[in-house]
Formats: sequence, structure tokens, C-alpha cells
Amino acid sequence: MKQSLRANSNSSRRSAAAATREPLTEQSAATLKGVGPRVAERLERLGVSSIGDLLCLLPLRYEDRTQIPPIGSIAPGQKVLVQGVVELAEIVFRRRRTLLCRIADGTGSLTLRFFHFSRAQQQNLVRGARLSCFGEVRLGPTGLEMVHPEYSFLAAGDVAVSDRLTPVYPSTEGLYQQRLRGLIVQALQRLEQSPLEDYLAPMLPGDWPDLNESMRLLHGPPQDVDKDSLLVGRHPCQQRLALEELIAQRLSLLQVGREREVEPAEPLRADATRLGHFRRQLGFELTGAQDRVLAEVIDDLAATQPMHRLVQGDVGCGKTVIAAFAAFVAAAADRQAAVMVPTELLAEQHVKNFRAWLEPFDVSVACLTGSLPAAARHRVNEKIQTGAAQVVIGTHALFQQSVQFRALGLVIVDEQHRFGVHQRLALMLKGQAERKVPHQLVMTATPIPRTLAMTAYADLDCSIIDELPPGRQPVTTAAIPDTRRPELVQRVEAHCRSGQQAYWVCPLIEESDVLDSQAAEQLYKELSAALPSLRIGLLHGRMRPADKDEGMRAFKAGDLDLLVATTVIEVGVDVPNATLMIIESAERLGLAQLHQLRGRVGRGREASNCVLLYKPPLSQIARERLGVMRDTTDGFKVAQKDLELRGPGEVLGTRQTGLMQLRFADLVRNADLLPMVIELSDTMLAAAPAQANALVRRWNSGQMRYAKV
Ligand code: ADP
Ligand code: MG
Repeated sequence: MKQSLRANSNSSRRSAAAATREPLTEQSAATLKGVGPRVAERLERLGVSSIGDLLCLLPLRYEDRTQIPPIGSIAPGQKVLVQGVVELAEIVFRRRRTLLCRIADGTGSLTLRFFHFSRAQQQNLVRGARLSCFGEVRLGPTGLEMVHPEYSFLAAGDVAVSDRLTPVYPSTEGLYQQRLRGLIVQALQRLEQSPLEDYLAPMLPGDWPDLNESMRLLHGPPQDVDKDSLLVGRHPCQQRLALEELIAQRLSLLQVGREREVEPAEPLRADATRLGHFRRQLGFELTGAQDRVLAEVIDDLAATQPMHRLVQGDVGCGKTVIAAFAAFVAAAADRQAAVMVPTELLAEQHVKNFRAWLEPFDVSVACLTGSLPAAARHRVNEKIQTGAAQVVIGTHALFQQSVQFRALGLVIVDEQHRFGVHQRLALMLKGQAERKVPHQLVMTATPIPRTLAMTAYADLDCSIIDELPPGRQPVTTAAIPDTRRPELVQRVEAHCRSGQQAYWVCPLIEESDVLDSQAAEQLYKELSAALPSLRIGLLHGRMRPADKDEGMRAFKAGDLDLLVATTVIEVGVDVPNATLMIIESAERLGLAQLHQLRGRVGRGREASNCVLLYKPPLSQIARERLGVMRDTTDGFKVAQKDLELRGPGEVLGTRQTGLMQLRFADLVRNADLLPMVIELSDTMLAAAPAQANALVRRWNSGQMRYAKV
């Protein structure tokens, strides 16, 4: 073992000398000292194969070991470097065997606590030894302590203070900070010999720091660096590299979009007369925004390259009808359309709407959900295979192997944030039988700011429906503590007596269908006892589909006054006469989910109300969330707030983790850079495509797994 390691480091030293003339992106990380096959494999897991990659692995945060505060001055919660002399070391047996070691520096004392320790540690930590320790201070049973601090021994008179801030890198199993820091120090030495080419410098004004200088500073910030800005991630050098990474990421999405443009798709056209007939039988006029988006969709469908369009629009803006139009066009062109939805309830509702709109034109609509009995599913599968089913609306069941389309021309994904990228991929592949790629229409009610959409969704064309159908009344929202529940029960009674309907949404217990459903049944019993004069229904995820359907049908038909439901009604459900919604434990739901739920009311001509019940006391962030809900009904504002409070990963859904894998930049923290990101990446793509390519490769090696979806 030892021998092979030595042989390895010899050869890597030789190749290091040879490699120094190559650009760093071409120099393998394996040419660094101490990188054998095992370490190389662990680096790969961090996306690092070249030295250039290693330099792009930027610190997530910093530790300050440039000062040694007196022990008497430190406080719980701080991460600090201290020095002291061991006063006492002993092994105690409480619940588990623990090594305790007390050090003091004349101003105070601190206990080091080790649950795991070697015999050597035990033998070396003896009275009189001088230690330097770094760790988080906490309040233990006998005063201040550090659990498993990093520590080293000091000779008399030594001071182990660092003249730079200590970077903390994203680490992976078996590859820890010390190791990474050592490798990066070597990588920085290589950087001295062959600096990275700065592709952005010609486009940036002079007050932006240079690329190589930024790399050097961020991997080892000097003591006099502007710590305040560095620690919150807003130092100019951090901005510089965030800008570079965001540009690289956007460029790579733009490239993906371009590559897809050369794939062949079947052009789908319907003649204007038929479209006119279809439009006239809808029963309403399209809004201006719907009209505009529809025109974009129809244009895209007629092209010989596949559509990749994202339609964004707040809850209730009328996205379904756009989807129905597109499906109608596909059917008219003798292609099948698949509509993917996240819940059975939504599938059933879409099937009803699509049938009402499409069947008068002899377009057949089938439904495929997981709860279909085997025989029925078999029949639907057959219709899909023969093409007898022209439009297929379904849940995850659509991805199954057994589902084979005759000629899939269009894939529509509703509520796309609920799906993973790989699920869309599975469905897209079903259309490739004839080497033609299906058109793709993706719909989301999560409105995100434009510059963010243009960055995170740079590979898609975006349409926005920024107008609600006429006559909608804004929903008035109030947040009240659940101690006022009795008065709310009376309000619901009066509301329903007046002929309108209401939802009462049960608390979300956890991500468990069973517990949520039990909570719903409990609430249903309580409300039925308290409100004997009302007709009350129940809807939760564990009910038989037939019962769910019956409950929903009865509520829609007005045969029920009050619907007690879990958050299964979050997406899509549409009952205009329901004008009051009560949401239990609202403080536990995210903004996007509250906004979706609230979107179930305010769909008719009557004014609507939403009551957010919460259990006091509220945390700061919960108070902020409920405040946002009270103050705005604008989905874009809600989404902006959600971004600030929760971060883009949550807001963008799986897509964020599937496609745009940012290592360093952050779409919220760096939101102010986005306009510049868009401008510069467009310029670069047009004026310097080779550099654009190189930039993408620098930041993006091997990350675009799902990029083509
Ligand atoms: P979402 O965008 O949330 O999916 P839906 O498509 O469910 O919204 O539409 C909400 C309701 O508005 C439905 O009842 C739908 O029929 C209705 N609707 C859609 N477009 C219009 C319009 N232009 N005028 C009137 N009502 C409309
Ligand atoms: Mg919808």
C-alpha cells in the first residue's frame, strides 16, 4: 500500500512539471501532491477533475483564526480560536465514556469534551500541555465548553494564529477541510505560473476585480480584508466570481436551448376556422393575456423544431384553457397530447373540462391515474397505443413502461414545480418512436421575477399570463390566533347560510398522508358536531377515489356547504361559489403553498375571504410570512418574498437542483447581478462564442445530466 502511494506521488511530481505549461483546466487534479486514485475519486464527487475545477471550488464561508480572544471574553455561539494550558484531563462515565479536558489562560477556563477519542489523545492531553483550539463555544453543565474542537499542541512561547481567514469548502465523505485546503494551496501555486484566462475582463469596467486576483483572495483572504462584506458573501471578489458562474450557467442553458432547436419535431397546425369554432364554444372571451400567450403557443406548435415553452401565470388566471387549445391543435394534426398533472383530483377535474371543450369536436379524452383498476387501465393503455385516445390526462401513472403512445406530438406539464426533471424526461422519451421530439408546454403558477426566469429558465421560452379573467374580486386575508376558533365556527355557519360555500383546510401534520388524513377526519367530526345545520364534506388523500370524486362533485354542484380538506386541494381545484377559506396552522406552510391554497377562493364574482389560523406565539419568519399573505394577493410579490425567505431551491422546485447547479453564486443573494448576467451572456454568445464555450466548460464540467429535458 505504502509503496504504491509513493510511486504515485513520484509520478505525479514528474507530470506536474510537464503540466505547468498547459492551461489549468487541462491539468488533472491527480497531478497534485497527495492525490491518488482514492482522493481523485472523491474530488470527482465534488465535480473536480482539473486544477481549474479545484480553483472554482470556492469557500462557502470563512472561519476567523486571525485573533485569539481571552477565554474570559468568549460567549456561547461564537466560533473562536483560543489558547490555554491544560489544567485537568479526566475520563468520566456518565451516559457514555467521555474525555473532559479543562484549559485555562489566566482570564478564564474552558472544557473540551470528546465522546470519541484515541488512546494517543488521552495520553497527550495531560496537565501542563499548551493547546490551541478552534471550535464553537457552548454552555455545558459546568460552564463554557467546546465539543470535539480542532486542536494542536504548542511549544512554550508559540502562538498559532493565522494571518489569513480560514476558508471552509463544501466537503464530501472522506475529503475533509484540511485536505482540501492543502490541495488548494498547491493549486494556487500553479495559478501563479499559468493564470486563468479572464474572458469577462474585456467587457467589464475597470472597477471590477480581476479573475485571478479574486480567486487568490477568496481562497485565502488576508487579515485586513473587508470582513463584513466577505462574511455575508458580498465582497467585490465574491461578486466577480458569482457573476462569472451565473454567466457560465446561463450560457450553458442557452446552449442547451440551441441544441434542442435542431431536433426535428412534427409541426402541428389547426386551421383558423376550426380554432375559431373552438374558441366560440368556450363560454367566455379569452383575456388579452391569454390571447397573446395562445398566439405564441400556436406559433411554436407550427414549427418543425420542438416547442419548449413555460407558461407562468398566477392561480386562477386561466392556464387550463391554453393547454386545451394546444391539445386541440395536436389532435387536429393527428398527433396525441399527454397532459401530466400532480394529483388525481386535478386529473379528474381536467378530464371534465377537456371533455366538455374537446368532445364536441370529436376529440377523445382519456384519463390514466394510479388508482384505475387493472382492467380499466389495460383498456386505456390500449386506446393510447392504438391512438384512439387523442388526449391523455394523467398523473405519474403516465410514466409507466406499459404506456406506449401511437404518435405523441405534445407533452403538457401542469404545475411543473411538482415534478422532477427525470419524470419529464421519461415522458418525453415516449414520443421519440419516429425520431421526432414532442412539443413541450410547461405550466406553472409559481410566478418568478423576470430576470430570475431569464436566468434559471434560460433554455425555455417564457410566456406570462399577467391578467385575471374579468370580474374577479381580490381575496381579503386575515390572520387570527386559533384561540378565536369558536367565533370562526359561527362565521362559517352564517356564511354558508347565505348560500355560499367554504373550505376548511386541515393542518399539515407532516409529509404523511396517513396522519394528515387522520387529522382531517378528526376536524370533520368536530365541525359536524358543532355545525349540525350545515352539509359538510370531507376530502383527503387516503379516501377511495370514487368517494373523493363524489365529495368533490357534490361540493361543485352545491350539494355541500363546507368542505373539510387536506392540502390535496392545493392545486387546481375550481369552485367559483366557494368564497371563504380557513387554513389551519397556517404558520407551518410556506408562502407558495399558502398562495396556492388561497387561490381556490376568489374565483367567482363575489368577494372572498381567507382566514389564516395560527397557534401563537409566532416565530419571526412565520410572522413575516403571514404578513405578506395579508398584504398582497399578487403572486409575483408573494414569490419574490418567498425567494427572500426560503431561497430559490424551494421556489423553483426540482428544476433548480436538476438543471442549474450553482456551486457558489446564489440566485437570491446575487439577484442584483442578474440583469448584468443576462446582458453579458447574450453579448458573449453573439460576439465571442468560443470564449463562451470555454467559460461554460470552466464552471460546468459534467453537470448537465438532465440538461436536454
Ligand atoms: P389556473 O391558471 O389556476 O390553472 P384555471 O385554468 O383553473 O386557472 O382557470 C380558473 C377559472 O377561470 C376556470 O373556471 C376557468 O374556466 C375560468 N376562466 C379561464 N379563462 C377565463 C376567461 N377568459 N374568462 C372567464 N373565465 C375564465
Ligand atoms: Mg391550473
